[in-house]
Formats: sequence, structure tokens, C-alpha cells
Amino acid sequence: MKDTAPETIYLADYTAFGFVIDRVQLTFRLDPKATRVLSRIAFRPNPDAAEHDFFLHGEELKLIRARINGAEVTPQMVPGGLRCDVPEGPFLWEAEVEIAPEDNTALEGLYMSNGMYCTQCEAEGFRKITYYPDRPDVMAVFDVRIEGEMPVMLSNGNPGDTGNGFAEWHDPWPKPAYLFALVAGDLVNHPDRFTTASGSDVELNIWVRPGDEGKCAFGMQALKDSMRWDEEVYGREYDLDIFNIVAVDDFNMGAMENKGLNIFNSSCVLASPETSTDGNYERIEAIIAHEYFHNWTGNRITCRDWFQLCLKEGLTVYRDSQFTSDMRSAPVKRISDVIMLRARQFREDNGPLAHPVRPESFVEINNFYTATVYEKGAELIGMLKTLVGDEAYDKALELYFERHDGDAATIEDWLKVFEDTTGRDLSQFKRWYSQAGTPRLSVTEEFADGTYTLHFEQKTPPTPGQEAKDPRVIPIAVGLLNPNGDEVMPTTVLEMTEARQSFSFDGLSARPVPSILRGFSAPVILERESDNAERAFLLAHDTDPFNKWEAGRALARDGLLAMIREGAAPDQGYLDAVATMARDSALDPAFRALALGLPGQEELAQSLHDAGDTPDPQAIWEALETLRQTRAEHMQDITAKLYAEFQVTEPFEPSAAQAGARALANAALGMITRLDGGAQAQRQYDSADNMTQQLAAFSCLLEAGKGEEAVRAFYEQWQNDRLVIDKWFSMQVIHADPAEAADVAASLTQHQDFSMKNPNRFRATLGALAMSPAAFHHASGKGYALLADWLIRLDALNPQTTARMCSQFETWRRYDEGRQAKVKAALERILATPDLSRDTTEMVTRILE
Ligand code: ZN
Repeated sequence: MKDTAPETIYLADYTAFGFVIDRVQLTFRLDPKATRVLSRIAFRPNPDAAEHDFFLHGEELKLIRARINGAEVTPQMVPGGLRCDVPEGPFLWEAEVEIAPEDNTALEGLYMSNGMYCTQCEAEGFRKITYYPDRPDVMAVFDVRIEGEMPVMLSNGNPGDTGNGFAEWHDPWPKPAYLFALVAGDLVNHPDRFTTASGSDVELNIWVRPGDEGKCAFGMQALKDSMRWDEEVYGREYDLDIFNIVAVDDFNMGAMENKGLNIFNSSCVLASPETSTDGNYERIEAIIAHEYFHNWTGNRITCRDWFQLCLKEGLTVYRDSQFTSDMRSAPVKRISDVIMLRARQFREDNGPLAHPVRPESFVEINNFYTATVYEKGAELIGMLKTLVGDEAYDKALELYFERHDGDAATIEDWLKVFEDTTGRDLSQFKRWYSQAGTPRLSVTEEFADGTYTLHFEQKTPPTPGQEAKDPRVIPIAVGLLNPNGDEVMPTTVLEMTEARQSFSFDGLSARPVPSILRGFSAPVILERESDNAERAFLLAHDTDPFNKWEAGRALARDGLLAMIREGAAPDQGYLDAVATMARDSALDPAFRALALGLPGQEELAQSLHDAGDTPDPQAIWEALETLRQTRAEHMQDITAKLYAEFQVTEPFEPSAAQAGARALANAALGMITRLDGGAQAQRQYDSADNMTQQLAAFSCLLEAGKGEEAVRAFYEQWQNDRLVIDKWFSMQVIHADPAEAADVAASLTQHQDFSMKNPNRFRATLGALAMSPAAFHHASGKGYALLADWLIRLDALNPQTTARMCSQFETWRRYDEGRQAKVKAALERILATPDLSRDTTEMVTRILE
């Protein structure tokens, strides 16, 4: 029973902790049912604190004994922790607690996965390990001793003594408890070394379960590339003798940047050509980089409190996207990021869960690891860089590292380094951090006497708790083309600061065609009247790859919207333009593959909703099907050629070049399948020697309704590979007919390999359903009901993953009354569950509000 209503925590209430920690010593006596954790913590009063209330967080701990300066004490147990009277000056706190990692299904704190001990402490998991001031502004040097029978026992920092049944670790860098980690198990390593720019030799390891050692080489290369890149681009070197990565099968998120001991969801580190797609490879490389980059942006400089989460996440996402752009193709990375941003962050920003990049209150911080904090947070860094310029950005970062190394910092600190290096006033820019919602940027134009004028207006719709919005500073990158397709004005950044503002360009001989918001220079929704002819022109001539792609996207979207709204036929202008584009050998195959992608169901639903319509998920799905079919027919004479031309004949490499070729060939295969009923796909399936090819063919066969045999064969082939079997689960749901997908998902939950204790498997099944709009929003309501059933069950085991998945309901108010009533019933059913977690209660309440 919940004895108190969940408490809301406010940024404005921040106060420093009353004590400083000089040193932490932890001893773990490992046991699945009864692990003992002994802590010795040297505290002294914090001279900067107003109060000296000795409160330590602690949850689900059995306190065996506590001492202060060697004398037994009896702390007062209070909700969420304990309080104790303490001496005036410095003192030594000692506690012994007991925990049961084997019973920990929440995967937060110390838990077990396949017999291996593992921790997850961000954001507030350390309080499930021992009593501690579990807040990021309390930083300390940790010494850890692990006692147990496990062959491999790891913690943060550098290794110390090891012997029979114990291992010691010392981390010289002060850190908050959320960066603590411990791993113990029967693991094997893939070792390597790295020499830093200043000549230090670092031991590198990727630790995995026996049998997975063949899937580490790519991750290791990605790690070394990241280490080098951070030295070259940001001047940041690694700072310990050893860097360990561990793969764990049961993990709520992608990965975690614990100091010197990154822990990864095995799906985000293990890779082999036979089992991983090109997409998997790219994601693995990016996540390895992301976690590694946290060593400076997150660990050396951490966050004062959890409201500042975007300080580390936005910046680190931005850094990992720069890395991917450098390693692969910058335009392809940018386009892919914007597709994601629109599908996930815009959706969040325009619904009941909208919140500022730096929220001002929360109930459960785990619910704020969102697309807004991460992806929009990264967009803000990109805008800042655009506004101040590359050189000033580098200088500001230099100052940031110099000034704040070792600090628990804030967004104010971050902006101040930019103000100090550039002399700019960033108070208006700060609104991007405090105001939620996606600005609508509308533009009209005028041309007279050689002068071309763009009139902009910005407006942000209200979001929960924020009715009125002030104008933000928006960097608008613009280029101008003349009617024959030449660029008459290269990219120029306009700085919009007012609600309404105009910019003129003179000396033009003819009315130009504008290319606005190049590179997606700000996370806004651009509203501008255009027509198919202009879009086809930009798709053919724009020099900015992002806007070139965007023109094709808009062409496709407008055509689809007309099909959905008016039952129009597929747009001929789009069909011709996209066929020309696909044939254009001057274009990167990866770009062509992206430009052959169609706006997703979610993006179309958003557009319809934005225009005041009620989206019909089934009609959206049908329009996409019709367009795909018509396009396959229209492009019939080139698909076979594309397919043949882009077959990769060299041995598999996860390079951007090969991946681009495969992406284009597989886009062609999708079109071929619509006409040949799956014959070519079956041939590809039968001869595939890598997962990219196999999975693409598998998808085509499922789409064509010819997947039965492949479903059997795929399972047979991969039943012993957990990560591949996740794909087997999700593919069957994703490619099912919308009317049947919920039944397919329901029957998969009865499969012997389904387990709700494994977040990957749960997401592969129920998450796959929730991410297929026509299926999830099927008018029967069976999609909603099935997800609710399983979220209710999962909440008792794993609140964090449950709460995250609840966000799949966030768009419910867009839909018709019948669907709304069904979602509402599902959400109310979840909310009525006895003992529902704080995580899920907060999410469902916000979605229903
Ligand atoms: Zn991160």
C-alpha cells in the first residue's frame, strides 16, 4: 500500500547537502539471496550548506547495524531513508545492510542477470545498495572490495589487490553514487590496449558471457575510435589505467556510463555480420561513443541535480552525433536524426507529456529520460554552435572543461561559459531550456525590384502548465536558388529573435526559390505554402542535402495527406521526382535509400492532427500501402537494375559505403516484392550470409504474406541467439496485418521464449505492437487492451520499463471518440491496479490529464 501520495520535487527547492564526503569504502559479500554491503563513509559538515540534516537515502535495505565513530547507533527510519544525530565535526559512518539481488526484477540497484551480478544506479538506484546521500552533487572517491566466488569481479576505477575470493578497486576520481558500478560473474573478455595522446597506456576490455566473445571486435574498434576522436576533436583524454565494458542481457536502457566500467544492454554492444544488421552496427558504434564521451561530459563534469539531466545528455548526444557524422556520412546522419526527432520528440512535445528540456518538477526522475531531454537537448547544443560559430564553440567548451572539471554543474554554468567567451547575452536562448513545445515557424515571401523578403512568424502552442510562450531566438539557415537551379545565395544564418521578423535580400535578377531551415537548423515546424513543382525543383537542385531530402519528403507527405483526406490518387509529381532521384548516380546510395523512405504513420497522424483533422490510423496505413504499390509499378523498370547494381559482392563489412548499397538494394527489393509476390525475396533469404540481407528478405516475405516457412526456418536457425530471436518476435508483429497484429503479439506472449523479465524481449513483442500505429490503434481496441494487460503485469516486476512504455498511449487525444474511450478505459484500468508503482502512476496520470 502506498502510505503517502507521491511527492513532487521542484528545481526551485534545491539546497546543498549538509555534509561533504571525504572517502567511501564499500565491501560487498556477494550472495544471491543475502548480499551484505558494508560501508565506511567519512563525512564532515558542508561549509556551504545552510542546514546539516543527516538524511541518507535507502530503499529496500535491511539494516543490520550502524555505527558512528565506532559506536553503535540506532538511526530513525523514515520514508525513503534514515536520519541520525551526528557529532558536530567530521565523523565516520559505518553501516552494514543486506540485500537480495536475485529478487531484484526492477533491474535497478544490485541485481542478477543469467547468474551474473550487475548494478544500475542512475538515477537513484544506489539507495537500493546502501544508505547514502544518493544525489549527484555529492561526489566522493570510492574504494570497493568485492568478496565472492565469481571468476570476474569488477568495479569502477583502477584495479587493486585481488586474491582468492576477492577483488579490490580504487577510483581516484570523485564521483556521484549514480556512477557507481559492480559486476561479478563468469565472464570472458575481448582485450585490447589504447595509448592516449599524452602517452598513457590503457587496458581495454569488453566482458561478455562465454560464447559471445566473437561479437566484440566491432565494439572494441568503436571504443578506440571514440577515444581517439575525443582527443582530436575535444582535446579530451581518458584518465584511468583501465576501461571496461560489460554486456548484460537484462537491462532497462541502452547502456550506462559508470566511471571506467560502462555497462551495456547486450543488444547495444554485441555485433557480428551473421546476427547484426547495418542499423545495429551503426547504433552500437554510436552508443559506445556516447557512453565513452560521458567520461568528460557527465562524469568529470556531472549534474548538480536531476533537473540538469540535459546538461550531460544533450551535450553527449550532440557529441556522439558529431562522431557518427565524422565516421560515416554527415548528411545521412542528420536526416536520420531528424526523422527520429520528429517521430519521437515532436510527438512528445505536442502531447500531454510535453516538458521543458530542463524540467522544473518531477515525481519520478526515471520518467524524464526522454526524447526531449536527450534529442531536443542535443538540438539546443547544435543551435548554440550555429549561433556563436564553430570557433567560439570550441573556445567555450575549452573553458567549460577548465572551469567545471570536478563540478556538479548546471545549465546556468553551461550557458555562462558561452556568454563569457563570446560576450553574448544568452538569456533569450535560455527559453529553449525552460519552455516546452515545438515552435511553429511560418513564413511568407515577397519579391519586388530585385529585393526578396522573407516574413517569419513564430508561435508555440500551450503545453501542460505553460499557457503562454515568449519568442525564442531561432537560427534559420537559408539559401537562395535562382530559377535555373543555381545557388545565388549560399547558406546564411538568419537570427530571429522577435515573434515576427522579416529579412531582405537584394540585388536579385529574378524571384529566387528559397531553401529554408537548411540542415534543420532549429527544432521547429516550418509552415510555408509551396507546391509540387517547387518541391520537385528543390529535390533536384538544392545544394543542402538535408533540404534536398526534405523536399522529397514534403512531396511524399502532401501527396499522402491528399490521399488520406480526399481519397486522391497517388501524386504523379512525386512518383516522377522520386524515380528520377533514385536513378541519379551522382547521389550517395544511402541518401537515395533514405529518400525512398516514406513518412511514417506517426508522422502523418501528427500532420493531420496539426491541421485540425482527426487521423484515421487505418486510412493512413492504406494510403501508404497504395502509394507503395503504385510506386513499385511506376518504378518497375528501374528497381531490378538498382537491385542488381547495388548487390555487395565483397565480404561483409559494416562500413557506411556497404550499408548504403545494401539499403538501396533492399529498398528496391521491397518494390520488387510488391510485383513478384516474394520470389526475389525468397532467393535473397535463402542465399543471405549476413543479417542485414536476411532480415530485409524476411520482412519482405512477411509483408507479402509469404513468411510462414521463413518464420519457421528463422527460428530454427537462431533459437540459441537471444538477440536474433528478439528480431524474430518483433518482425512478426511489425509486419502483421493491422487487424491481426494484436493477436499475433498475444500469441507470441505464449511462446516458450517469451519472458517479461527481459526488457528486450518484452519490447520486441509488446513494444513492436505499440509502435505499429494502425495495429495499436485498431478500432477494436484490442491493441490497447493487450498492452494494458501486460503493462499491469510488468509493473509489479519492473516499474521503469513499464512507465516508459506507457508513453505509447500519449497520442490518444488525437483520435476519434471511440478510440479515445477505449484508451481511457485501458489507462484507467492501469491506474486502478493495486500497488501501482510511482513511475507508472505519474506517467498514466500525466497522460490522462
Ligand atoms: Zn547518455
